Amino acid sequence: MDDIKTENAMAPRARPEILAMKGYVSARSLVATGESTVFLDANECPYEPFVGASGLARYPMQQPPELVSAVCGWLDISSRNLTITRGADEAIDCLMRAFCVPAQDNIIICPPTFAMYAQSAMLQGVETRKVALGEGFALDTDGIMARVDDNTKMVFVCSPNNPTANLMDREAVVGLCHALAGRALVVVDETYIDYAGTDSMAADLENFANLVVLRTLSKSHAAAGLRCGMAIARQDVTELLHKVLAPYPLPQPVVQAALTILRPENQQRLALRRGEIIARRDAFAAAAAEMAGEMAGEMAGEMAGVRAILPTDANYLLMIVDDADALCARAAASGYILRNQSHQPGLEGAIRVSIGTEEEMAGLLAILRGEALAVAAEERVARHVRKTSETAISVAVNLDRKAPVKIATGVGFYDHMLDQIAKHAGFSLQLECDGDLHIDPHHTIEDCAIALGAALRTALGDKRGIGRYGFCLPMDEALVTVALDLSGRYFLDFKADFPADHVGDLPTDMIEHIFRSLAENMQANLHIAVEGENAHHMVEACFKGFARALRQAIRQDGADLPSTKGML
Ligand SMILES: *Cc1c(COP(=O)(O)O)cnc(C)c1O
Repeated sequence: MDDIKTENAMAPRARPEILAMKGYVSARSLVATGESTVFLDANECPYEPFVGASGLARYPMQQPPELVSAVCGWLDISSRNLTITRGADEAIDCLMRAFCVPAQDNIIICPPTFAMYAQSAMLQGVETRKVALGEGFALDTDGIMARVDDNTKMVFVCSPNNPTANLMDREAVVGLCHALAGRALVVVDETYIDYAGTDSMAADLENFANLVVLRTLSKSHAAAGLRCGMAIARQDVTELLHKVLAPYPLPQPVVQAALTILRPENQQRLALRRGEIIARRDAFAAAAAEMAGEMAGEMAGEMAGVRAILPTDANYLLMIVDDADALCARAAASGYILRNQSHQPGLEGAIRVSIGTEEEMAGLLAILRGEALAVAAEERVARHVRKTSETAISVAVNLDRKAPVKIATGVGFYDHMLDQIAKHAGFSLQLECDGDLHIDPHHTIEDCAIALGAALRTALGDKRGIGRYGFCLPMDEALVTVALDLSGRYFLDFKADFPADHVGDLPTDMIEHIFRSLAENMQANLHIAVEGENAHHMVEACFKGFARALRQAIRQDGADLPSTKGML
């Protein structure tokens, strides 16, 4: 079965120059290595870098054996049939480069479908022929066969399909494999198969020399950031893919993380997660479909105009609405990004919704019901952009929402501390800073505090209904007392003697600066006193204590002004 002379073997259909070339022979693939092997062959540095990881100094194998065996165990396949790549995207690209002669060959895709097939073809100078999905987004096999010619090298079948979310009929795919035997590859993209509750087609490799199955850890294994995907194909095709693939496509940390993800106990946890996502998807679909029912009634008015929720076999679904552009814009105004698919043929009014956390989906339902809009008018929000020659900062706060909280200052420990402020004070904070960190973190730290203070002051508006005051908080041996009055007058009293000059990448002499900038720009009276022995605890206690005091201070309770002066 794995012999290149097999009937209908596909390698002869590859680009002649790829067939003829010798693959690049990397240093590590030449020798069998052991514990005591001395590597003086690849101009590597003999030491490990100072990043707390090991194994970085040496080139990895193109297909690291440990990972290969973990993937083979997971997918129940032989290593002769496996190519691990930087995401399924790279597998698509390798197939394209191995098989398609530029300016001569063509591929067939079935839109609406995943965009990378056509993208990859374009990069290789290959024609993309489109045979639209039929009724119920089913494969039009007759239509496909009518477009196949001698230069057709691949037909891409995405199952479950992105964005329509439906599984393709197995018999139809099998029929295509038969019909195209010895002529073209049938590439079945099973990125979402783990959500679909059906078996992979990888087992059909036994029967079809022209079948290629794509898998990835991105969507089903919560690892889109990892870049680890794979192609499963007959040995002759696999050997060609290895030739085309970069010599070292899998960075050592990626290999380590993938091995961890694929451990049985983590696979089990991820399977439970997928179960939760599917249950949440179905609950969301039911709630949204109910709104579509109500739509028919008199309540239509300001609501989202949901017309239908389409069936789904994946961790996303298509929602058909009256005005997809308007709804996407409205959702974006509340910080929710949806994928507008309404401009694709056959998808009028369609929005693709990925299934997020419980809280996120509840938030989206509120947006669909128009509730988020109603609240928005009363919400205390502020956006603040601050640009100097030293820093460019954008900060957005919403004192009446808890999410999103996204912070990126470029100073890791400071991000952590600002995160504490948002989480413990209970407000939504999005803060991004592009600062002159190549000089030092001083400007970034101070300017972020200035911008955050100013945004908080703006968001507080006329301060009607707010509380004012303070908090005392222990953190292990550290004890902090924070008193805060949003009085409209700036004053800072800061008592701390930190026993270290840095916590992480945050200089401790900046802590007072931070609170001074915050107090000044919020026009607040702020007293902080902290004692302790561990600088990390002391600093974190300051931020948490400040956040807790702020939480009380910004909480609205009625519309009275907490002052006898009639103004704050
Ligand atoms: C997201 C997606 C991919 C990309 O997978 P990576 O492994 O992240 O490159 C491939 N195919 C489909 C259908 C997708 O939706």
